[in-house]
Amino acid sequence: MTPTFAHRMDRVVPNAIGELLALGADPSIISFGGGYPDPTLFPAEALAQVFDDVIRAPGGQAMQYAPSDGLPLLREQVAELMTADGTPCTAADVLILQGSQQGLDFSARMMVDPGDVIVTEDPTFLGGRIAFDPSEPVYAPIPMDQDGMRMDVLQQVLETTPRVKMIYTIPEFQNPTGVTLSLARRRRLIELANAHNVIVLEDTPYRQIRFSGETLPTLKSLDTQGRVIHLGSFSKVLVPGLRVGWAVASPALLGKMALLKLANDTQTSTLNMAATSLYLDRHDLAAHVAILRAAYARKKAVMLDAMRRHFPQDVTVTDPEGGLFTWATFREGFDATAFMRDVALPEARVAYVPGASFHPVTPRANTARFNYSAQPEARIEEGIAALGAALKRHA
Ligand code: PMP
Repeated sequence: MTPTFAHRMDRVVPNAIGELLALGADPSIISFGGGYPDPTLFPAEALAQVFDDVIRAPGGQAMQYAPSDGLPLLREQVAELMTADGTPCTAADVLILQGSQQGLDFSARMMVDPGDVIVTEDPTFLGGRIAFDPSEPVYAPIPMDQDGMRMDVLQQVLETTPRVKMIYTIPEFQNPTGVTLSLARRRRLIELANAHNVIVLEDTPYRQIRFSGETLPTLKSLDTQGRVIHLGSFSKVLVPGLRVGWAVASPALLGKMALLKLANDTQTSTLNMAATSLYLDRHDLAAHVAILRAAYARKKAVMLDAMRRHFPQDVTVTDPEGGLFTWATFREGFDATAFMRDVALPEARVAYVPGASFHPVTPRANTARFNYSAQPEARIEEGIAALGAALKRHA
């Protein structure tokens, strides 16, 4: 039979870039494509110990069902981390999620009816769109510059577009550009959201991975009206395989989200929550993050230095103050998707993510995202050199 899918499935389709990236999984290819943390920095021994201990603990609590909003102690620990980071909150303000990705899905499901408008950065995180698409939104992408989303354009869009429900932003070291939203723009964004009664979805998986510059206040900490949904994650500071993230939001928003959590998957894995909680209790997360920061800062420097030496002069790249990505802009007329398919993969044996897929409405062809966290430093140099040589050959 031919299944008659619900309307919301119309936009739930494979992504052409996904197919291209699957080719990059070949081990003979140096991939700068995925957003993977460096697996050699995973605290495997510490995690092995805490998993062992929570499983063996008398009473079997870590193997039992848990409250749908998360283990109380972990909610408390997340509230402490948030408070120390300048966003005061208590355990009651925290909902534990299966990764921050689940918070993207839930936020759209809670707030967005078909035809409602979601404002995004342009470009924006592809996984955000994948999560939002089943809610059938219309996207209003806002161009960015070196200080993040442009507030003059946001203002204009909010003044002229009916049905804007939500502004989605990744304020720190944005995926895909690596750009950080300035303090002045954070304040302005909150002002505009207040004036137009719009929800702000703040997605911060890279926030802790800062190499340079001052830590800036979260949008949630600037929110006086309970309109910011803040999402955080242990994926980049511990390991993504735990699938433990969280939301901090007003009681009205968090209460609804907790109901979706119950409907969706009952709760995040008790084992993973208990292990995360015991890890936080026993180990100094900040000390571990300091190791990650130093390693990723070095890798970023290696990649940018290699790009400067090997890429044609007309390629520009962003210089992120943290996170895992830099964003390259090639000459006008360059097609990064075609180049990856025809040259980078088969000839240079290098993968990146062509920028087209990150633009919600109008794809731009001459951009690409490069991840510097996953590959060893020598492979970064080797891959960028091979790609640079191919770019020059085919210029
Ligand atoms: N938001 C952004 C901007 C991301 O880059 C990612 C993952 N790369 C996520 C959310 C999802 O992260 P997780 O579900 O692992 O917390």
